[in-house]
Amino acid sequence: MSTDYKQPIEAKLFINGEFVDASDKKRFPLKSPWTHEVVAYVAEASINDTNAAVSAAKAAQPAWARLSPKQRGEYMKKFASLLREHGEELAHLEALSMGRPISGYVDHLLAANRFDYYAEAGYTALGQSSLNTPGHLNVTLRQPFGVVAAIIPWNVPLVAFSGKVGPALAAGNTVILKSSEKAPLTSIKVAEYIVQAGFPPGVVNILSGHGQISGAALASHMDVRALSFTGSTRTGRLIQEAAAKSNLKNLIFELGGKSPAVIFEDADLEKAVPATSHSIQWNSGQVCMANSRIYVQRSIAPAFMAAFKESFGNVHLGDPTDPATTHGPLADAAQADSVTRYLEMGKKSGQLLLGGDFEPQTFTAMPTIFINTTEDSKVLKEEIFGPVVHINVFDTEEEALEKANASEYGLYAAVYTRDIGRALRFAIGLESGTVGVNCTSPATGFDMPFGGYKGSGVGREGIRESLDAFLEKKTVMLKID
Ligand code: NAD
Repeated sequence: MSTDYKQPIEAKLFINGEFVDASDKKRFPLKSPWTHEVVAYVAEASINDTNAAVSAAKAAQPAWARLSPKQRGEYMKKFASLLREHGEELAHLEALSMGRPISGYVDHLLAANRFDYYAEAGYTALGQSSLNTPGHLNVTLRQPFGVVAAIIPWNVPLVAFSGKVGPALAAGNTVILKSSEKAPLTSIKVAEYIVQAGFPPGVVNILSGHGQISGAALASHMDVRALSFTGSTRTGRLIQEAAAKSNLKNLIFELGGKSPAVIFEDADLEKAVPATSHSIQWNSGQVCMANSRIYVQRSIAPAFMAAFKESFGNVHLGDPTDPATTHGPLADAAQADSVTRYLEMGKKSGQLLLGGDFEPQTFTAMPTIFINTTEDSKVLKEEIFGPVVHINVFDTEEEALEKANASEYGLYAAVYTRDIGRALRFAIGLESGTVGVNCTSPATGFDMPFGGYKGSGVGREGIRESLDAFLEKKTVMLKID
């Protein structure tokens, strides 16, 4: 990848169609996790900036909602094609900010596909009619909330951006998106495409900065009527509290995970091994749905572990801007500290089979496998968000299901077996928003709901679910005289 991109980048806020500094001029340095050099100075949105973005969105919303779905869709189509054109630059920005290898970067395409879908989907926002109340024709109307907010994490920024901004706009809302302080560069870059696509000022506003300031201000803002959040369960709790204490805004939460994969002795190991090792290796394991717990049946445990170790360890470590790299650094110093603490804990509650090392010069954690970890240990209960997997052994189906479900998380679970009865029992029994049968994360369906059981989320995202979540439902009673 070329190094021609001018650095450090000056990342501003995007409010009411203008790129502006923070009102108090505050900004923070963003360092590459690989080189530790400052790659950008990023505007830190203040409470005043947050209020200004909400006011701009509020002023723009009635005219935006009056457009037909087709008219709103025209802007979204142009935006989608600009995303498609700029994949290389967007990949580079993600590599600089949070160390995501540019190899295999497809987030701009996933985002463009979503915007293309939502460019047409406004027409599916339909209500019901009923003649079941004597003397009445009753109907429901689907209407936008008004101003909505989106708060996104750093690991797949444009995927989260498109999954929230696309449906919010199609539904006729205007939006304030707050990017993550660890990966703000693609969100503010695509604000340029928002301008080029011709969106009216105020329809999309983009804030950067830390969650405790602008994120918290959005969560408690009285004019924000719905908020879609992707991030940690810890932050989800804070947002829920802020919403409860302010205007009880509608919330959609996509939170953390500790996803299990269960491998039975009749599984096709040639498929199960590469899929489960890719799941926890991709993006250095910094993926909400990565299978971070694997339960393997005793008779095949030695063979599975040997093959998994070979597959998981077979990575090309390096500079995330190098196209040959498949395993980059952790996102930043805080993420590195957290993962190294879990590595030390893991050595005490299980046996190390692979890795366990951390390279402080480049914040790189090696692919790590622990085996025979105590079931109630912290490392098996908490989300590590790194390339760290725990492989434990089981004997019976009942034991496997119980262990897989022994988590406060429930985002994605996988089962590998050739026994159809067992596959169905697990599909029903696993406490998880998505179950993969002979497949695992990140395999998902474009038209399938996505979200979490238990502490992994509230509500669901998905092409239909997200549009629905951004629409109010009103009953209109029409009396027939
Ligand atoms: P995080 O919770 O630390 O931050 C997420 C966002 O919330 C950031 O923009 C942050 O600035 C903001 N924030 C922080 N404090 C806030 C507050 N008090 N009020 C409002 N906003 C606040 O999470 P992260 O470290 O960015 O992302 C990693 C987490 O996200 C992991 O737990 C991962 O599993 C989860 N995740 C879930 C999904 C999913 O679809 N379920 C997808 C990706 C990531």
